[in-house]
Amino acid sequence: MKDETVSEGRAPRTIAATNGVAQDAAFGAVIAPIHLSTTYKFPAFDKPGPYDYSRLGNPTRDQLADTLAKLEGGARAVMVASGMAALDLALSGLRPGDLLVAPHDCYGGTHRLLSLRSARGHYRVAFVDQTDGEALAAALALEPKVVLVETPSNPLMRVVDIRHITGLAKAAGALTVVDNTFLSPALQQPLALGADLVVHSTTKFLNGHSDVIGGAVIAADAALGEELAAWANTIGVTGSPLDAYLTLRGVRTLFVRVERQQQTAATIAAFLNTHPAVSRVHYPGLTSHPGHALAKSQQSGFGAMLSFELAGGLAAVRILVETLQVFTLAESLGGVESLIAHPPTMTHAAMDPEARATAGITDGLLRLSVGLEDEDDLLTDLRQGLAAASNV
Ligand code: PLP
Repeated sequence: MKDETVSEGRAPRTIAATNGVAQDAAFGAVIAPIHLSTTYKFPAFDKPGPYDYSRLGNPTRDQLADTLAKLEGGARAVMVASGMAALDLALSGLRPGDLLVAPHDCYGGTHRLLSLRSARGHYRVAFVDQTDGEALAAALALEPKVVLVETPSNPLMRVVDIRHITGLAKAAGALTVVDNTFLSPALQQPLALGADLVVHSTTKFLNGHSDVIGGAVIAADAALGEELAAWANTIGVTGSPLDAYLTLRGVRTLFVRVERQQQTAATIAAFLNTHPAVSRVHYPGLTSHPGHALAKSQQSGFGAMLSFELAGGLAAVRILVETLQVFTLAESLGGVESLIAHPPTMTHAAMDPEARATAGITDGLLRLSVGLEDEDDLLTDLRQGLAAASNV
């Protein structure tokens, strides 16, 4: 597993817990105050201070950005209003005719964004199974400008080799953008593996409390980071200070949350893996998972997300989700509460059935985001739900 040491010689967990703490020059506040002001006084004519208008820059947002840039080992982070805005911003350098290579099994909202942008002629997109070396090589031979990676993928938990893909992309003259939402920088740092940009839906593990929609783009290169920050200001997608404040508060406990949640996820994956009502479990922590060895080498842990397929298909899905009491049937992930989602009718409903079938998203597939509840309560809940679902 990787070395955890990053910038300033401080361990990532120290950065997450304390970056920017006890820096308040005005009153010595240990926790940085929230700055809601939209506008800032010019100290003199034609002499702005460090901030002039909050769409462009805001101290609270900048403190979160600085923390995320350090956690990802990047030069600069740009905080935006959602994960989708982060993806769109990261891809904003593409011009009509440029080719984007994207995973065929990415988050449904990402699939919709790329499909609609390409339908409108903003750029071209090739959806590729990035675990298939030949398909990937064929796509790279078409000289794409950007390769988008999502690993582990949503919802099938496919793991792709970031170092290998960034190497191939560089050789083909393309930038690599990695969506690191499923693991967070606590478990994976794509920039250290050669990526140019990391994208997050901060809505998920980074905030961790299911009460903020937000996104971030982190750039390895300062100039590219500046360019994206300027564009985020130009199109007005920068995130709100209140959201930044809450998200930074979430980041303080990122490591302990993720570590505890992934421990429970591993137990649940092992339980599901031997249950007769379950035909398949997708969790990179299982030694039977095709991406297990790769996940072990490029991740610091296997994460708190998993998916599984019910032998009884859609009928069994309905009974299971309606029987569960501790898991909540809801979209999203990464919060302290455990959620269950049915990708075909929820998170990936925006994909047409053919694209879902190509990606391998079956009607019997369910996705779990494992929270911080007692492990036995979660197991009991699943055991009862699966017993009911076994009767179809
Ligand atoms: N990327 C991934 C992997 C996601 O799962 C999601 C949302 O579920 C997004 C991006 C989009 O994030 P947001 O909902 O914050 O726009």
